[in-house]
Amino acid sequence: MIKYLIFFFIFVILISGYTIIAIENEKSNDIKIQKDEMTTEKKAWDAKEVTITGATVSEEKATGDFILRFETPLNPELSVLKEALESEDIIQKRIRELNTKIKMSQDMPITFTECEVSNAFYNSETKEIVICYELVVDIIETFLNKLESEVEEDKAILDTTTFILYHEMGHALRDIWDLPITGKEEDAVDQLAILLLLEDEREGEDAVLSSASWFLFNKEKIRKKDLLFWDEHSLNIQRFHNIVCWIYGTDPEYYAERIEVEYLPEERAIRCEEEFFQMRNSWNKILTPVLKK
Ligand SMILES: [Zn+2]
Repeated sequence: MIKYLIFFFIFVILISGYTIIAIENEKSNDIKIQKDEMTTEKKAWDAKEVTITGATVSEEKATGDFILRFETPLNPELSVLKEALESEDIIQKRIRELNTKIKMSQDMPITFTECEVSNAFYNSETKEIVICYELVVDIIETFLNKLESEVEEDKAILDTTTFILYHEMGHALRDIWDLPITGKEEDAVDQLAILLLLEDEREGEDAVLSSASWFLFNKEKIRKKDLLFWDEHSLNIQRFHNIVCWIYGTDPEYYAERIEVEYLPEERAIRCEEEFFQMRNSWNKILTPVLKK
């Protein structure tokens, strides 16, 4: 559905001198993480463990929802993308599920819109999450001809878009509920995005691997910008290795044969199970007050 737009968008990008500003992006090497069928022995992350106890935010205050909106862009080419996104149910379904789990004190728009730059952000003034259509175009371009089929490419595009949306939602939740965060907030909300995706077990694992691939494909963009060590985001390649480590940590036995050592060297791998469980337990505690019963 989305794939047919790719060549069209690349053409548009080429003729418009399009530049990418906000989210590091450049295609790079391929990735070979095997995504075999899950075995019955596979210990998928148990979503029940995120289930809430002892909420301190009253249910009466939790009357809001995330509201997904697709604004009509002025650029007619982006209108085609808008219609494609609206016709897919992957993102919509995830938002509906999140609304059954997360307390919000007020409705929060998640707005897909035309920005004239490639970006996604949470606006703490307007209490709104914004995903630019131009960023989705970036993602489409990034996955072009990188996967085995158009179906896989379409899914990777939507999954990566969802990961970015969850990342911004992490910023929003921290702001709305004043959630405690130590260390880099950008890394923390990457963790939350991954945990939320993994609640969906097999589907979620595919989505996590797609978002990891996106960082890998984009790793050289940051190199082009002379490595922004001062930036609040970790480098794309670091974010890639982190995500690979965390998904490996959900079940090292299962992933031992499925993740190539160059993506997860032994020195990091040995800590990943503990790292994942520590991260999951910490987020369980942080989120407890804001999850619906
Ligand atoms: Zn962020």
